[in-house]
Amino acid sequence: MPTTLINTHSPTNGGGDEKVNLIGLGRAELQARLAADLGLDPKPAKMRTNQLWQWIYGHGVRDFDAMTNIAKTMRAALAERYTIARPELVERQVSTDGTRKYLIRFAPGIEAETVFIPGVGRAGALCVSSQVGCTLNCTFCHTGTQRLVRNLTATEIVAQLMVAKDDIGEWPSSKEDRQLSNIVFMGMGEPLYNLDHVTSAIDIISDNEGISLSRRRITVSTSGIVNQMQALGERTDAMLAISLHATNDELRDELVPINKKWPLKDLLDACRAYPGTSNAKRITFEYVMLDGVNDSDAEARELVRLLKGIPAKINLIPFNPWPGSPYECSSWERIERFADIVNAAGYASPIRTPRGRDIAAACGQLKSQSVKERASSARKRMTAEASV
Ligand code: SAH
Ligand code: SF4
Repeated sequence: MPTTLINTHSPTNGGGDEKVNLIGLGRAELQARLAADLGLDPKPAKMRTNQLWQWIYGHGVRDFDAMTNIAKTMRAALAERYTIARPELVERQVSTDGTRKYLIRFAPGIEAETVFIPGVGRAGALCVSSQVGCTLNCTFCHTGTQRLVRNLTATEIVAQLMVAKDDIGEWPSSKEDRQLSNIVFMGMGEPLYNLDHVTSAIDIISDNEGISLSRRRITVSTSGIVNQMQALGERTDAMLAISLHATNDELRDELVPINKKWPLKDLLDACRAYPGTSNAKRITFEYVMLDGVNDSDAEARELVRLLKGIPAKINLIPFNPWPGSPYECSSWERIERFADIVNAAGYASPIRTPRGRDIAAACGQLKSQSVKERASSARKRMTAEASV
């Protein structure tokens, strides 16, 4: 059975606290702020920035008082103006397979989910959200049925990592034996509609003196926001994943409606031009397996034809149903047959094993459970009120 803990972290950094949270500020921003607020010259400001950086991202401390190489008076001056508090962890669930799902509240009404999946990537992958909700309406995705609340800030994106590292006890950040080795922007939202904040967060996460995750282990997944793809590559050097899901425009228009704006040809041209792509740095194409919709042998062959010339990996994702979803997942035999055709053409095409099913932590299910639970408790409350 999954375990659930409520309110394990406090205080929040969302309500009433006017202090600036240093988590999520880039090195240059942090240095400029210290210089301005504390009247430091460039050299001491740079030295303080380095110290703070190592304490915050190297050691994961949550209190300025733990920064033992900084003088007490300076620690007090920092604590007066700034915070390094985590956002509120509203709910934490651990699946029987070790997957951990966190529901994080950044501010009142601003909540997103983050999922840690052990045994994925080099050691374990953290699936982070980039927005609360999504403006796109992919028909198979539960997030797509929720309206966009807002973009998450760099602070809020990095905080998802801090919360996960706190929970799995991964401080200090070591390069060896890490459990959290990969980051995938595959939670809620479309990261390329929030590129500035995603870029700042990646700069912080990959900084060598802090969390120091290699950019090669950071993957950004997009539904195909073609006009931002080049910038993503140039600014982040991250790995690219494309939510393809269909091999012709007619079907893709329906499944991933942004295809009407940027059809397959434009999308694949942008992939061919993605900076740094090579056989050692392939683009991942995600393909959700929908029963009787996109899973025929002919479509597997067409997929191979479409990707010709692009260094690619194909990731077959069994569809994760959600309440009211209009599709079913293809049968296991069908998925294997589809994978065989793709494999025979020389593509690695792992079938993504569904993880964390008992806690609804799978792709496209994020937030659904919590929304559902709250809706159901609201209903109960209304029924109770009505009966008084
Ligand atoms: N918005 C981005 C990233 C978040 S979605 C994008 O669309 O790429 C991450 C991945 O989960 C995408 O490939 C998406 O298509 C897939 N996904 C969404 N809902 C799903 C579901 N119900 N079952 C399986 N995969 C799903
Ligand atoms: Fe948004 Fe991605 Fe879901 Fe489409 S699949 S609705 S782009 S989160």
